[in-house]
Amino acid sequence: MAKKKKGLLLSLTVASSIMLAAGCSSDSTGGSGDSGKADGLPAVGATIYKFDDNFMSYVRRAMEDSAKDQANLMLNDSQNDQAKQIEQVDTLIAKGAKSLAINLVDPKAAQTVIDKAKAKDLPVIFFNKEPDAAVMNGYDKAYYVGTTSSESGVIQGELIAKQWEANEAAWDKNGDGKIQYVLLKGEPGHPDAEARTKYAIDTVKGIGIETEELAMDTGMWDATKATEKMDAWLAKYSDQIEFVIANNDGMALGAIASLEKAGYFSGDKFMPVVGVDAIPEALDMIENGKMVGTVLNDAQNQGKATVQLAVNAANGKDVLDGTEWELDEAKAVRVPYVEVTKDNIDVGKNAYK
Ligand code: BGC
Ligand code: CA
Repeated sequence: MAKKKKGLLLSLTVASSIMLAAGCSSDSTGGSGDSGKADGLPAVGATIYKFDDNFMSYVRRAMEDSAKDQANLMLNDSQNDQAKQIEQVDTLIAKGAKSLAINLVDPKAAQTVIDKAKAKDLPVIFFNKEPDAAVMNGYDKAYYVGTTSSESGVIQGELIAKQWEANEAAWDKNGDGKIQYVLLKGEPGHPDAEARTKYAIDTVKGIGIETEELAMDTGMWDATKATEKMDAWLAKYSDQIEFVIANNDGMALGAIASLEKAGYFSGDKFMPVVGVDAIPEALDMIENGKMVGTVLNDAQNQGKATVQLAVNAANGKDVLDGTEWELDEAKAVRVPYVEVTKDNIDVGKNAYK
């Protein structure tokens, strides 16, 4: 099941790269001309910071599913290039988008997007990378769909503490009662990366477990970069490392690839690894004992909520019309995080099915 989905996502990515290479538009549902309507459906202009992000590929799929028969979703790959994304926003507006759904490359670019939207009185739904509150407050038609970033750090910290307490005899290799850890951080400046890093460690300490950071560096949310970091850390610290904490599952998977090369997960050589997202590949690792747990970051509901709000906005309705969501005081829909271990693996499976 998970495999099948991955194949589909990959082929979508390949198909859109081919279209881009051929100079075609990257609209996922075909052209809308300049009318802003196709088949009577409102045009929604959307960008994803890069299609080549494991978690965002699931958000994207949820968006495409939710947009079926609801909107002409013009979805762009910003290829991790903020200047390119701004050009895409201009093009989407020129093509008649009635609302925008924007996954910023750089959260600091929100004001530029808002200025363009405001000039045309277009509502903007930011998602996944939360802009600063001051910027959001400057435009009454700006909304956010995502999570409470700190919550994932707190849940991950609780998970680390629980697992450590249950396995301390085996995992505290130097017997000093402290967790010697390495931490793979997401993109610096990304609210999720900053909050997960801080709250995971603060929570472990708050529970009364001492920690020692052997190394921390960014793996930019990316598995390959995480493998490189982990290779270097294993070369430097080898069996001093007692825990691998990753800001997302993509990097946890990258660390596992490195650990496997170094002989971990065979015989009695083990390393506890935790992540965030609960993507299917990580759930497989939890099931085969190579990850001790993760935190569900609900891609499906975040993608769905983004499209629901954007479609309502495009139709001139209240953004929450007909939905189950609520907005907080920051005009944000916040989808909850959930701890996932072997014991409740179905929570993850159901969310990503
Ligand atoms: C996810 C990461 C993802 C990032 C992209 C985070 O919420 O946990 O896996 O790479 O968003 O912005
Ligand atoms: Ca120790």
